[in-house]
Amino acid sequence: MDKFKILSDVWGYNSFRPGQQEIIDHLIKKEKLLAIMPTGAGKSLCYQLPALLFKNQTIVISPLKALMDDQVFALKDLGVKAERVHSGMIESEKNKVWKDFKNKKIKILYISPESLFRDSVLKILKMLRISMFVVDEAHCISKWGSDFRKEYELLRELQEIFPESNISAFTATADEETRKDIINKLTNGKGKIFLYGFNRPNLSLAVQQKTSDWKSQLLEFLIHRKEQPGIIYCLSKKLTEQCAEFLRSKGFNAFPFHAGLENERKIKTQDKFMTEDNVVVCATIAFGMGIDKANVRYIVHISLPSSMEAFYQEIGRAGRDGLESDTLLIFGLQDLFQRKRFIDISDADETFKIKEHKRLDSLIAYCDSAICRRQTLLSYFKEKCDPCGKCDNCLNPPQMIEGTEYAQMVLSAIYRTGQYFGSAYIIDVLRGVESQKVIARGHNQIKTFGVGQTASANFWKTFIRQMVSANYLIINIQRYGALQITSNGERVLRGEDEYFYRRFEFINFTKKKKDNVIDAGIIEDEKELLSALKSKRMELARKKRVPAYIIFPDRTLYQMLLHKPKTLEEMAKLNGIGPQKLDKYGEIFLSVIKNL
Ligand code: ADP
Ligand code: MG
Ligand code: ZN
Repeated sequence: MDKFKILSDVWGYNSFRPGQQEIIDHLIKKEKLLAIMPTGAGKSLCYQLPALLFKNQTIVISPLKALMDDQVFALKDLGVKAERVHSGMIESEKNKVWKDFKNKKIKILYISPESLFRDSVLKILKMLRISMFVVDEAHCISKWGSDFRKEYELLRELQEIFPESNISAFTATADEETRKDIINKLTNGKGKIFLYGFNRPNLSLAVQQKTSDWKSQLLEFLIHRKEQPGIIYCLSKKLTEQCAEFLRSKGFNAFPFHAGLENERKIKTQDKFMTEDNVVVCATIAFGMGIDKANVRYIVHISLPSSMEAFYQEIGRAGRDGLESDTLLIFGLQDLFQRKRFIDISDADETFKIKEHKRLDSLIAYCDSAICRRQTLLSYFKEKCDPCGKCDNCLNPPQMIEGTEYAQMVLSAIYRTGQYFGSAYIIDVLRGVESQKVIARGHNQIKTFGVGQTASANFWKTFIRQMVSANYLIINIQRYGALQITSNGERVLRGEDEYFYRRFEFINFTKKKKDNVIDAGIIEDEKELLSALKSKRMELARKKRVPAYIIFPDRTLYQMLLHKPKTLEEMAKLNGIGPQKLDKYGEIFLSVIKNL
């Protein structure tokens, strides 16, 4: 059977996405590879399809139970013989899977690295002459990656234990060093690297300065998104709770999510998020890797992520269905300080810390970039693109304003107080606030005291942060976040250089138009049909206890809106509807369309 036939017979797709075909061809030749493709690019299909072509079975190593469950449910629904074994299953269930696997009743088996390396398991696998081992989320094997997992280290032995089997690895995030590391550990450096674009054209990017009233900022962004699923990333558990509580008070279906919650509650929240379509989760990064919902419409960060990689991965959870989705990062100087402290108090070695600081600095530079955000983001991954035309900077090109005098006020306040204080204190001095601390130290007597009275504390916060990210000031963590003057700063202070800052204001998101793959007008006209289709999908999903998009992703529902199939033949032509889906759900959805 050829790959195109399988693509349409099993998945019901009419074409491969960029990169998929090349990767599949390579695997069919039984050659090793590491593929780096952005989240949502369709990595799973790259190994699942060849697995169906191989004579023997395929093992997929995956780090998270939820991730495995999801993939296996989706495959089974397509009629593929897939299973998984992980610690969340009861013994009898696992035994059944192993029995079926030995009898070759299972084609693709998902397993965690720790279960794989049991002697009994290795014995079975050797006997069965596994065709291919797939390492999904392969960045977990590298200490340089953003998500190192000890169990993944074991995978280095795979090639020795199974010299006859092919090995392939997949991940969405791996910089050059991480890539090398993965390919060395898994294939002795012999595998070929396939690197595909990081550009996600359907995601819009925007950054806002955090004001003291972040709740209003958040609400402004969310006000027209009550009916959409989204994630709000927060740095702390407390913030997730505050955020969810606030949104609930505004009528949102919002829930907190963090590692400290009871398991049962976590599962419940995840379930809700997966099966219902208007849930917003306020989460720490504990929420994410296992979440594979295709129609997340927005991601907001109300705290600064730890690095560009982390940021990329987190926003990557939006718009996996290819439809327009929005991202917003709201951040302030305090976040930066906190992140820097996290790095410094960690027990990593010095070189690692320096690297982490650099990664963070790149993110800050992204935040304060005056050019297209997409260009800035992609350039970090060594990729180029044209100005995107839909990020905040493209829509609203920032104005650079001459701010030498303001900068000198800041620099002088820092200089005259001994380069010993953080921004809150410096702002007090600038604004002439006679706080106890200021008076006790006599800083109400210095020349700079009160010179910046006319500007608000929020203005100064942002102004100072920009000076930090443009490297006129640094934050000295060893001195509890004291602001210190760099050589650039010294030149401005001495009047040898001018200083420009980017004008800041808050963008109005509510006006933004949506140009989805399907015209917003059609969705508006067909509101009733869409909601009928969605509730049918929900009903089926509930019955089968799977996420709604496993039945059909939004994209496929939109196709139904657009083409209104009247017969099964017409239905079969829609992208995303293969024979299995047609069989299971064709009639059901036809009757929904007919009855409206
Ligand atoms: P990731 O690369 O993040 O692992 P997935 O494998 O989960 O991405 O795929 C993301 C989405 O893309 C899924 O909903 C999948 O069904 C869809 N997809 C993958 N390949 C194709 C294709 N050739 N045509 C249409 N949709 C596809
Ligand atoms: Mg994946
Ligand atoms: Zn842009």
